[in-house]
Amino acid sequence: MSRYHLPEGMRYSTLEERRRFYTEEFDTRKVSDWFGSRIDRAKFAVIIGRHTKIFPEEYREDLETTIIIDEYKDLNDVRDQIIEFLPESAYYDRTVYAEKDRRMGQELAFDLDPENVVCPIHGGLAEKMERGQGLSFCNVEFNIVRHQAAELYENLEKDFCSLGIIYSGRGFHIHVFDQEAYGLSKKERLQIARSTKKKGFAIDEWVTAGEMRLIRLPFSLHGLVSRVAVPIATNELSHFDPISDNRCVPSFLRP
Ligand SMILES: [Zn+2]
Repeated sequence: MSRYHLPEGMRYSTLEERRRFYTEEFDTRKVSDWFGSRIDRAKFAVIIGRHTKIFPEEYREDLETTIIIDEYKDLNDVRDQIIEFLPESAYYDRTVYAEKDRRMGQELAFDLDPENVVCPIHGGLAEKMERGQGLSFCNVEFNIVRHQAAELYENLEKDFCSLGIIYSGRGFHIHVFDQEAYGLSKKERLQIARSTKKKGFAIDEWVTAGEMRLIRLPFSLHGLVSRVAVPIATNELSHFDPISDNRCVPSFLRP
């Protein structure tokens, strides 16, 4: 089988492209609107170069570190700190904290990733990893997660009423904002993760179970594929195309 990498036009962003995106394009107003009141005490995080090995020289020692951004004045200050690190990825912490970092609850989320799909051409994740292709994905895998996102959203609508879908740059994230979902116990989260996986959805169990607290920051740049993470409406899922949709193609890749 031939080597495969990423769908057409997707590639690592350079440091200069990351700088250009966060300086000229990253829209903190949209971030603020998306968070609404959930922005209270939000913590952000960046990873500079864990997968891409692209990093500013002065942060060589921290290229794989998850750097938490929890001291900031406002979102513009968060953006300035992101520009300081020029990371491959930016995240926020789904855990909600009270004073003194006391844990109050956690946003429930589902992370559908194309690499978790068993591809008729490229096989399952274990086989892809074995070939050193754990981060590659193809259009077949993307289309499978696209359909799965629509189906999972429909399933979740039966139990929850406040949901959001984000195109993550690779696959899709479904966020659950219902109050009762924030109060789920670890055990309940694990059960939801396992039963969702059992139904055949290509989710990352760690995200839904809550072990992985961080999730990609909406409107940030996914530096492994040069795509912007953006909210998508459910009725767009059937035709959403990240190759050409200008909402998720950064200006440095537009003609
Ligand atoms: Zn494939």
